[in-house]
Amino acid sequence: MTVQLVEEHRALQQMARDFAEQEIRPIAAARDRIKDPAKTIDWDLIRKGSALGLRTLAVPEKFGGPGVDLLGQVLVILELARGDGGVAKTFSQCWKWTPMLCRLATKEQREHFLPKFMEDDTYLLGLGGTEPDAGSDNRWPPNDPRAGWKTSAVKHGDEWVLNGMKHYIANGGVAKLYVIMTRTDPTVPINKGTTMFFVPSDTPGFRIGRTHDKVGWRFYQNAELIMENCIVPDFYRLGEVNQGKTHRRDDVAGFNDVELVANVLGMAQAAYEHALDYARNRVQGGKPIIGHQAVGLMLADMYMRLEAGRAYLFKVVEGCMEEGHDYDSASKQLVKVFATETAISVTQKALEIYGGAGIMKENPVEKLWRDVSVFPHLAADSVQILRSVEKLR
Ligand SMILES: Cc1cc2nc3c(=O)[nH]c(=O)nc-3n(C[C@H](O)[C@H](O)[C@H](O)COP(=O)(O)OP(=O)(O)OC[C@H]3O[C@@H](n4cnc5c(N)ncnc54)[C@H](O)[C@@H]3O)c2cc1C
Repeated sequence: MTVQLVEEHRALQQMARDFAEQEIRPIAAARDRIKDPAKTIDWDLIRKGSALGLRTLAVPEKFGGPGVDLLGQVLVILELARGDGGVAKTFSQCWKWTPMLCRLATKEQREHFLPKFMEDDTYLLGLGGTEPDAGSDNRWPPNDPRAGWKTSAVKHGDEWVLNGMKHYIANGGVAKLYVIMTRTDPTVPINKGTTMFFVPSDTPGFRIGRTHDKVGWRFYQNAELIMENCIVPDFYRLGEVNQGKTHRRDDVAGFNDVELVANVLGMAQAAYEHALDYARNRVQGGKPIIGHQAVGLMLADMYMRLEAGRAYLFKVVEGCMEEGHDYDSASKQLVKVFATETAISVTQKALEIYGGAGIMKENPVEKLWRDVSVFPHLAADSVQILRSVEKLR
C-alpha cells in the first residue's frame, strides 16, 4: 500500500472503531433477529452516529461538512462494518449520493435540500434505479429502448408526473430524500432517455411498498418505492432532461464499488478475529485447536486473503484519489468481485473453525456469513466482470 494515512485519517479510524465497539456491536445481533424487516433500523444509533458526523461525512467543507476524502471514507467503513455491515451501509449510502446534492444539484437546489440533510440527524438518502423487470440492464444496458427502467416522467407545464415502481432500494422506507431514475424518452435506450429527479419521501403520490426480507445485512433496509401520479416541480429535476445516465457516469459516479469492498472486507475481518479468538480458546485433542495444523492452516489462509483484499482495495483507492473520476480501470470493477470471494471464503472457514457452534445463533459468525452472502447479489458480479473485460479489450 502506498497511500499514506495522515493524522486526520488515524483519528477518523479510531472514532469509527470506538463507535463500532461501544455502540454497534452491543446491539447488532439483536437487530438482526428482529423478524419484521421494516423495524431493524435503530434510530438512536443513527442519531448518535450522525452526531459524530457519520451521516454527512462526504459533504465538502465549503458546504459545511467534514469533507472526508475517499481514503478516510474507506477507513471508516472498514471499522463500522467490523461492528455491523448493515449499519456501515446505512451511513455510506448517504455519502454515495452526497455528490448529487453537492456537485450536480444547482445552487438553488442545494440551498433547498442540503440544510435539511445537514440539520436532521435522521435524514437519510437513497437512489431508485432497479425495477422488477430491469436490474443488470440498467448497469450494462443493451442498445435497445426496451431494456432498462420503465418508470416514466411526463412534463405538464412546470411539473412532472412520475409513474412506476422501484425495488430493492437501499435505505428504502427510511430515507427522507430519494433520487429517482426515470424514462423521459422511451423510444431510445436508457443511456439517452433517462432523467433524474429528487423525490422527498413525503411527496404526494409517492409511497413505500414492501420492505424486503433479506437473509443478511438486515439492519440496513431495502424496499419498494411506488410512484402513482407522483407530482414533482421542475425544480426537483436533477441535471438535464434525458442526460441522467451521462450525469451519473461523469458527474456523480462516485466510487460505489470501493464502498462495497470496504464493507465486505470489514465484515470478513470480524469473522477472522472471532475465529482466531475461538481457536485460541477452544481445547480439543488436548490443546487449543489453533495448535492443530488443519485449523492453523485455515487461519493462515484467511489472514492471507484479507491482506490481499485490503491491498487491492487500497490500490484502487489510490487510483481513484489520483485520477478522480477518470480512473476507470478494470480493477475498479474487479476489486468488488475479489473482495466478495475473499469474504465468502473467510466467513465459511470461520464457521468451520467454530465446529457445531458455528451455525448456532448464539455465536457471532453465522450472522457474518449471512451478511456476506448478500454481496454477490449487489451489483451482480458477472456484470462487473463484463464491464472489466470491456476495459481490458
Ligand atoms: C442488498 C441490495 C441492495 C440494493 N440496492 C439498490 C439501490 O439502492 N438502488 C438500486 O437501484 N438498486 C439496488 N439494488 C439492485 C441491484 O442493483 C440489482 O439487484 C442488480 O443490478 C442485479 O439486478 P437483478 O437483481 O434484477 O438481477 P438480473 O439482472 O435479473 O440478473 C440475474 C443474473 O443474470 C446475470 N446477468 C444479467 N445480465 C447479464 C448480462 N448482460 N450478461 C451476463 N450476465 C448477466 C446477473 O449477473 C445475475 O447473475 C440492490 C440489490 C440488493 C441485493
